[in-house]
Amino acid sequence: MFSAILKLPYLDAGFYIVVYGIITFLGITIGSFLNVCIYRIPKNKSVIKRASHCTNCNTQIRRFDLIPIISWFILKGKCRNCNAKISPRYPIIEALNAMLYIITFTIMDININSILTCIFFSILIVIAFIDLDTFEMNLSVLVLIAILSIPAAIFTKELTILQRITGALYVSVPFFLIGEISGYVIKKETGEKVRGIELGDTILMACSGLFIGHKAIIVSAFAGILFAAIGGIISKAITKESKIPFGPYLALGIVIGTLFGKQIIDWYVNMFIISY
Ligand SMILES: [Zn+2]
Repeated sequence: MFSAILKLPYLDAGFYIVVYGIITFLGITIGSFLNVCIYRIPKNKSVIKRASHCTNCNTQIRRFDLIPIISWFILKGKCRNCNAKISPRYPIIEALNAMLYIITFTIMDININSILTCIFFSILIVIAFIDLDTFEMNLSVLVLIAILSIPAAIFTKELTILQRITGALYVSVPFFLIGEISGYVIKKETGEKVRGIELGDTILMACSGLFIGHKAIIVSAFAGILFAAIGGIISKAITKESKIPFGPYLALGIVIGTLFGKQIIDWYVNMFIISY
């Protein structure tokens, strides 16, 4: 789409400004719903029933105080009733979701594949932040990704069924084996029941691989491990905390893999073919 803008005469640029405006609005609004999901799903609360309440004083939040991003700044990050701090994470997630939508549509243009990819990224945001909060992943949210692969397989011609199935297995199988073996070793040495790679992370890579395919999932795994290594070193230096959730890093890696994975793999493979 970005290349399309450059080619268009100035007259049509206005059309794209409107389109980007709508995409941004949708991204922020859906991002606001993601905040509700991240907060309520781990508590097993309904994400659609009951209006938003202050988590501190439980007062129902007024309609005009629920405008995504803007309300947070108007309220200066505090509850109107009890002055309790409202986390800046709420507007950050809204902006992050909108940003991912804009990047996706710019790179992939507006089609069924890019729309499904945006939904996929929104699900990844929910998974990443729930993992960050609780060190756990919600199975039903993970399964949503696998379900999303069904319309992707039917309506898009990006990947063959075989490429999707191998995508589901390429990373999840080694992740599962590493988890099993490390779990066995750790249990033998310390008696603790911990796995090197959690089952949730393994299922995340299986479901995501089904959606993004064999090439993209490999890049996702490498990128995720790299981000986790860097993030782990930084967070250990700052907070002295050695236990970090893997999910957010994997999710970030998957975003990179989804958007650039195929190109990165092709570039990597071709580089070696030339050098022979
Ligand atoms: Zn309050």
